[in-house]
Amino acid sequence: MRLSKMFAPTLKEVPSDAEAVSHQLMLRGGMIRKLAAGIYDYLPLGLRSIRKVEQIVREEMNRAGAQELLLPAVQPAELWQESGRWALYGPELQRLRDRHNREFCLGPTHEEVITDLVRRDVRSYRELPLNLYQIQTKFRDEVRPRFGLMRAREFTMKDAYSFDVDDAGANASYEAMRQAYHRIFTRCGLRFREVEADSGNIGGSFSAEFMVLADTGEDAIVYCDSCGYAANLEKAEIASPPDAPFPGALQPMKRVPTPNQRTIEEVSAFLQVQPRDLIKTLVFVADGRPVVALVTGDHEVNAIKLQRLLKANVLELADPATIERVTGAPVGFAGPQGLKVEHLLADYSLRGRGNLAAGGNEVDVHVTGVNLGRDFTPTQFADLRQAEVGELCPRCTGGKLLQQRGIEVGHVFKLGVKYSKTMRCTFLDEAGVEKEMIMGCYGIGIGRTAAAAVEQNHDDNGMIWPLPLAPYHAVIVPIGKTDGPEYQAALKLHDELEARGVEVVLDDRDERPGVKFKDADLIGFPLRLTLGKKALDQGAVELKRRAAAEFELVPLGEIVAKVDAIVHEAKNVTTC
Ligand code: ATP
Ligand code: MG
Repeated sequence: MRLSKMFAPTLKEVPSDAEAVSHQLMLRGGMIRKLAAGIYDYLPLGLRSIRKVEQIVREEMNRAGAQELLLPAVQPAELWQESGRWALYGPELQRLRDRHNREFCLGPTHEEVITDLVRRDVRSYRELPLNLYQIQTKFRDEVRPRFGLMRAREFTMKDAYSFDVDDAGANASYEAMRQAYHRIFTRCGLRFREVEADSGNIGGSFSAEFMVLADTGEDAIVYCDSCGYAANLEKAEIASPPDAPFPGALQPMKRVPTPNQRTIEEVSAFLQVQPRDLIKTLVFVADGRPVVALVTGDHEVNAIKLQRLLKANVLELADPATIERVTGAPVGFAGPQGLKVEHLLADYSLRGRGNLAAGGNEVDVHVTGVNLGRDFTPTQFADLRQAEVGELCPRCTGGKLLQQRGIEVGHVFKLGVKYSKTMRCTFLDEAGVEKEMIMGCYGIGIGRTAAAAVEQNHDDNGMIWPLPLAPYHAVIVPIGKTDGPEYQAALKLHDELEARGVEVVLDDRDERPGVKFKDADLIGFPLRLTLGKKALDQGAVELKRRAAAEFELVPLGEIVAKVDAIVHEAKNVTTC
């Protein structure tokens, strides 16, 4: 391929509305262009990387026994009404009407459509298990589409769905997918971690996410420094400490004026108490009803845990007016005493604690000597707080929790009978008894995986593609006049490499070497082969790996074999 002919419009300036590095670099490198918020054109270079992710995913899905099909992007509302998700899925679901006023949506995911297909065409245990997948366009009207391909509205996903006769079979299907995911991300050349996750909108009993490790990732991951425990921070459990012995005599509850002292830091400094001796009282609205969550002041409430406990479809922090209605005071002065709410939920960190400070439910007032049982009684104790760095691992004895950031590229779910029950997806077992199929579903964000590769691998000069996902393996940069000997040698090298199956670009543009090197670095070709006069006089080529600082001189007679070996070694990563 000649760079002079390629549609790869690179940009010198960083586009102003691109926040994430991958977004900036993919725009600058001429890989993608924005059409509308969260909707992108894939240009030839971008599409090549996307296709490489797809190819690895496809090969590993097939190897794991899944069969590819293709389902429609437009889905009838009736199926979503049947599963109950038409009402539950919020504005992320893009709804539309046809000319007959029938309702449809653009598929954000395909559980309903696949369940409908399988229930119509599979009757007997003899036809199971089945695992069906597609690589297809999804649409989610995300609140904040941003970060380019990482959080788009229109994006490509691989989604697979398994159907089994019993739990043992479903577990085996899940395990096969989990292992396939390990092979996929290993073959992509990415550093990643599998973590326990919350099941969110999709539902089901258990799920795990595959996270590409990158400091810029949107997700926080908690992991143990000693055993294999790792979880999304949203899900991370707490090693519940034993109830602390009660400190002694109950103090009387006392009102203290605290003018303008609202935050935990302000109040603890003002009252001269530790944050752990304060009660943090947060008002949320769960499906339209106010609920109150309590933790000690040294911790944060984990809204996902709260939402799961309440089985709420929507959970939000209350607005100031609701807070005032529930507590009688403006934001910053809430306390648990005297509150009349259906759910007054307390984190385990409050168990066995006494003589605490809290908001006074009155402007500019706090109270001290607040005691459980006497002054307030939680409706339930639960694990409601966020795990923190340095605390004990909930799984092993002795390990400490650490945190790192990641980008969720894949998600595997055990669905159980969530969809097969509501949508009556059944089969007849050996005894002729009708049973619900046990399902699993397994997603990979194709574009997000490509973008995550850039988030994980880049420097100030541009992208550093892992070889398996690079749009091309190598770029050849001849230096000198376009009719000079360097060009002749470059052309020959180009043809020889191409004949070996190396994907190579010849930078035949009439540009200065500096410009060529800059673009090569920006696009991030894993290998750069420079043919200059000095090296050629010695019968050699400069070989530079994008990730390395130095180049090496390789004799012209050896360069083809050497590049071929590097490329094939990287592509044939042996996996489990
Ligand atoms: P997130 O929590 O990041 O919004 P999700 O949990 O809603 O994602 P899933 O329903 O698990 O996503 O979808 C499967 C995969 O699809 C995700 O692991 C991710 O790689 C990809 N994906 C989801 N939403 C987007 C998006 N808006 N843009 C690009 N890829 C996405
Ligand atoms: Mg997910």
